[in-house]
Amino acid sequence: MKIYAFNEAGAPASEAEIETPRPTGHEVLVRITRSGVCHTDVHIQKGEIAPAFPCVAGHEMAGEVVAVGDAVTSARPGDVRVVFPWIGCRACAECRAGQEQRCPAPQTLGVRRNGGYADHVLVPHEEYLVDIEGLNLTWAATLACSGLTAYRAVNKAVRGDLDDEIVVIGTGGVGLMGIAVLRALGYRRFTAVDVDDDKLATARELGATRVVNSAKGDARAEILELTGGGATAVVDFVGTSQTAELGYQVLAKNGSLVIVGLFGGELRIPLQQMPLKNLTVSGSLVGSLGDLAEMVALAKSGRLPHVPIIEKPLGAAAVNEALDGLAQGRVPGRIVLTA
Ligand SMILES: [Zn+2]
Ligand SMILES: [Zn+2]
Repeated sequence: MKIYAFNEAGAPASEAEIETPRPTGHEVLVRITRSGVCHTDVHIQKGEIAPAFPCVAGHEMAGEVVAVGDAVTSARPGDVRVVFPWIGCRACAECRAGQEQRCPAPQTLGVRRNGGYADHVLVPHEEYLVDIEGLNLTWAATLACSGLTAYRAVNKAVRGDLDDEIVVIGTGGVGLMGIAVLRALGYRRFTAVDVDDDKLATARELGATRVVNSAKGDARAEILELTGGGATAVVDFVGTSQTAELGYQVLAKNGSLVIVGLFGGELRIPLQQMPLKNLTVSGSLVGSLGDLAEMVALAKSGRLPHVPIIEKPLGAAAVNEALDGLAQGRVPGRIVLTA
């Protein structure tokens, strides 16, 4: 089988041939037909996340089961599935509680184990496959990371009142998925914030009630006015000092800021406000296998708007081109590689 691997930190993906693994026990071999490109892969390529090289990145995988181990009962060749990549050790308390993405010893596909920039992926257990029957394959692949991440972060930030004021900062691939999730869940008042008018136009098409270009004028004052004094939930899909600070500044009393983006920086906040306004600031990293099943069900319900996706044929050149585009912030929506 072919892999498109980073051989060292900072190196572009290069094609290599390795022996196709044979699944044993509960393992399943999936032929990759869709492989989404995530901004996290830019950090993996730079050597900021992956513990070792060579690394076959790519964690938004959809495809067809082609072989199963002798203990597999819930999957068979021909099944079309999305792969849950956020696998843990399967033994610790988090894993046993179904929160493998929080495992202190992660085995993530596309980070610690070979992922989706390849012909095939060896999935360690059949239970990491979710049925995507009836869904557009390309869109379904993006549910494994951008969809899952947005779903968990939005659900962490909101408190269930559909008339609450919600602010989404950042309208790249994951931020747009956050807007799609809010729309699907029935929220009526959410504001999208970005520095790019084209991305904001897409956010509006997906259902954002209002948009704010934070590069123009006083974004803080504008958001406070639009939200009638502040938001109960802010999800920061960028994660810079500026975006997190803006998010904190526009929180209403009892508000919650959830930071998702990995851009990096520091957050300096006036501490007295935290207890006096009863504020919460937290981070959110991807989601659980249960969250992915819920997200797929939401997609199957027909209520989840489609985020724009660009398709390119799977190969080393496309991986590198996509990662360069993401690193430079010039990708509208999501890129999915097809095979
Ligand atoms: Zn990702
Ligand atoms: Zn674990």
